[in-house]
Amino acid sequence: MSFTVTALGVGDAFSAMHYTSCLLLEASGVALLVDCPHPIRKMLREGTEGRVDVQDVRGVAVTHLHADHASGLEGFAYYSHFALGRRTPLLAGPEVLAQAWDGHLAAGMRVLRDANGPHQHTFESFFDPCPIAEGEVFAFGPFAIEVRPTLHHIPTYAFRVRAAGRLIGVSGDTAFDQDLITWLATCDMIIHESNLGPAHTPYESLAALPRELRARMRVTHLPDGFELDAAVQPLRQGERLEV
Ligand SMILES: [Zn+2]
Repeated sequence: MSFTVTALGVGDAFSAMHYTSCLLLEASGVALLVDCPHPIRKMLREGTEGRVDVQDVRGVAVTHLHADHASGLEGFAYYSHFALGRRTPLLAGPEVLAQAWDGHLAAGMRVLRDANGPHQHTFESFFDPCPIAEGEVFAFGPFAIEVRPTLHHIPTYAFRVRAAGRLIGVSGDTAFDQDLITWLATCDMIIHESNLGPAHTPYESLAALPRELRARMRVTHLPDGFELDAAVQPLRQGERLEV
């Protein structure tokens, strides 16, 4: 049994070089997205050389509702609804899930007009909401998923995901938070964000962590052209890693 992560997007919100934050986790033949920006089908096709498409993805976990992490939800769910005839399991922290429909998706999905008039839809028409509370271990296929709130502009959660006896940590967007680092430090692999500004983690803070921890860490969500030293290895778009 293996547990792999494929980096479908590694750019920040303003990137002209990369797709934005998105990981594909795979274990026991089940695929789970962590974050879902637009254009998700193109990202899946390019990141997996056509091996994985929407119908192969069991569910979507979102860290938060900023567009560079969640702008692909509408397209993913519409494709699942109209082309595949199924709802999209949407896994998230409770505050994220609470805002996902009225605060993010409803304008483009609630009322669909056609020749027969307007048709009303709800969050549950398209999605199977799966709230994950802090302290809970949420079982989803071969994955056991935990969340922890981070320090960001809007409600955001980090994830720990266990499968095949291995554990990956995904920081989500966050200011530097030593308590979050400690929570993630139990993981075999840590995907940590870095960017500029008070709601993100300065690269220097990650570079100053103990060597043993940095050896298990990849940094993502960096600004275009950011000059890295070798302290923390960057996550490269398109690479697939064994957790
Ligand atoms: Zn953000």
